[in-house]
Amino acid sequence: MKILITNDDGIDSEGLLALKKSLSSLGEIAVVAPNHNWSAAGHTKTMHKPLRVTRVTLPDGDFGYSSDGTPSDCVALGMLGIAGERPDLVVSGINKGANLGGDITYSGTVAAAMESAVNNVPAIAISLASYVEWQFDAAADFAAKLAARVLEGKLEPDVLLNVNVPNVGVSDIKGVLVTRLGKRIYRDKLIERQDPFGRNYYWIGGDEPGGNAEEGTDIWAVANGYISVTPIHMDLTDYPLLDKLRSWNLSL
Ligand code: MN
Repeated sequence: MKILITNDDGIDSEGLLALKKSLSSLGEIAVVAPNHNWSAAGHTKTMHKPLRVTRVTLPDGDFGYSSDGTPSDCVALGMLGIAGERPDLVVSGINKGANLGGDITYSGTVAAAMESAVNNVPAIAISLASYVEWQFDAAADFAAKLAARVLEGKLEPDVLLNVNVPNVGVSDIKGVLVTRLGKRIYRDKLIERQDPFGRNYYWIGGDEPGGNAEEGTDIWAVANGYISVTPIHMDLTDYPLLDKLRSWNLSL
């Protein structure tokens, strides 16, 4: 089995290395990852500049490919043969920060998995729910267990599993819950400053997002100490809305 791993924190991230180590017993691992941090890159395709790819030595002595493209570019490069044969599975992470609810539309980690699903290769995105002092063990162990199940052929090729892991030791994980996406509440503020030329510039940012704490959601699961696994389909159609919208009898 051939597994392509990538991330959005950059090829130097310890999370990528922890993932590589845990998956190594499952098959041949190819690493294609961005050369810098692309967190919140979303699902991006580079079209107006060339992509550079460098063969690099990883801290464990193996080699990987580092690219100046986005996380989804890295997966596209992998699909098109930059690291050898087309993969059977793509795993993205372990991200340093949760990707819950609406975060998945911003996330480079999840976008890399989406690029895989677009290419009909099943994918796992895995994120650790902390911005500091990451404990990768539980996420790394679970990534290997879940990847083994996916490689058994149990998953449709055009979906991805979005996994979020509480930042605690293995023995403190309460269990694994299959969840739906919750609703994130963002607390962005517009920060206005002035550059040395007297022109205004802006930062959009604020406190860490919150979210609804409804049971059954990914946000609830992680907040309560469980590993959350959310199946994600690339078909974003709102099916219940189809009939309602048809009843509008739209015309030109
Ligand atoms: Mn990230």
